[in-house]
Amino acid sequence: MQREYPEFTDAEQLDRLVKIYQALHAAPELSHFEEKTGAFMANNLRALHYAVSERFGRYENPEWTCHGVVAVLKNGDGPTVLYRADMDALPLKEQTGLPYASQVMMPNEDGEIVPVMHACGHDLHCTLLLGVAETMQTLRARWRGTLLLVVQPAEEGTDTGAAAILRAGLYEEFARPDHVIAFHGRADASAGTMAYVPGYAMADVTSIRITVRGVGGHGAAPHLCKDPIVLSAQIILALQTIVSRELNPLEPAVITVGAIHGGHARNVIPEEVLLEVTVRCYKQTVREEMIGAIERLCAQLGRAAGLAEERLPRVDVILSSPAVYNDPELVRRAAEMFGNVLGPERVTQATPVMGSEDFALYGLNHQIPSALFWIGAVAPERISAYEASGRVLPQLHASNYIIDARNTLRAGVPAATALLLELLGKT
Ligand SMILES: [Zn+2]
Ligand SMILES: [Zn+2]
Repeated sequence: MQREYPEFTDAEQLDRLVKIYQALHAAPELSHFEEKTGAFMANNLRALHYAVSERFGRYENPEWTCHGVVAVLKNGDGPTVLYRADMDALPLKEQTGLPYASQVMMPNEDGEIVPVMHACGHDLHCTLLLGVAETMQTLRARWRGTLLLVVQPAEEGTDTGAAAILRAGLYEEFARPDHVIAFHGRADASAGTMAYVPGYAMADVTSIRITVRGVGGHGAAPHLCKDPIVLSAQIILALQTIVSRELNPLEPAVITVGAIHGGHARNVIPEEVLLEVTVRCYKQTVREEMIGAIERLCAQLGRAAGLAEERLPRVDVILSSPAVYNDPELVRRAAEMFGNVLGPERVTQATPVMGSEDFALYGLNHQIPSALFWIGAVAPERISAYEASGRVLPQLHASNYIIDARNTLRAGVPAATALLLELLGKT
């Protein structure tokens, strides 16, 4: 097939990018504390003659500095495309044995010193963005418009970087994009491949805390108490019927009670039990239906237990993040461009997953066509070795997840560049 865009022939650039990747990998920083990574990215983008704004973004927690970096390359009249990479790492002890493995320990949000590792590949995302930034600068005679690069902190966890950057007025301060794109490394696919999911690709996630109140007392006198542990058990089982008995079976959804906290002693009935719940689906209407059902079941089971109205279980939504919806037309154009660069046999459709990504926020609830693509990030030999031995490949967030940076960047930089050239104005 005719390759419309240049293959990655610049060996010197690739060597430099691999070194950058290894340096980033060896120096991970936790979400909300990406000070050095942010500064490193800003300096590199400034050296490429982008207009760079640092520490852009505003968290809900006023004590945190947002280390967001926004880099703009204005190149005449034309569309604006936002390309986002995330840069935070995870509290994990790296066990890859690589020469550039992280030895970093740093304080987490509670001041506890923990090991840190780039186990989700955000170091790769940053390096890919730098490679693309350089190539787009080199190729600026071939496009028109505005390239808006966002290096986003705090993708993992709560009070996320995407929300912080949008809250600070990304689209008002810079430009409202016509398209938004991002790439995420894939731990189960070969370097040199790309995968896409048209439509809903990652879940809408709501975190819920249920406070089950009761009347505490002596474990030997349950008749004088209202036992919140028994009521919690009933609630947990009742929640299992929401997906199986209330939702349309064609709508993917999951409700998981991941934590129960209540009681200290075997002979004391506690006053209160806390349940931590994650609710996942794709559509907002399904989310509302599930939350409504949780509220109804909690209240009615509380009444059945004989609780007064003011002591019924309390249901608090503590965090909600929308589904990643990949605009089908954008995905179609991207798949064609990736196929031109990598060969169509290396570009495949993947299935949606129930994980979540704050990338979803950039599309402003489907108003701006956006898409997150999966880029294969593992050495093919490593995949075959795992397959041959019957072991399961380390997944994202695993302490032994190893990225084949050279071959991933070799494919990723020209593929991402080809898509940007397609979405920006032609000369
Ligand atoms: Zn992750
Ligand atoms: Zn990630």
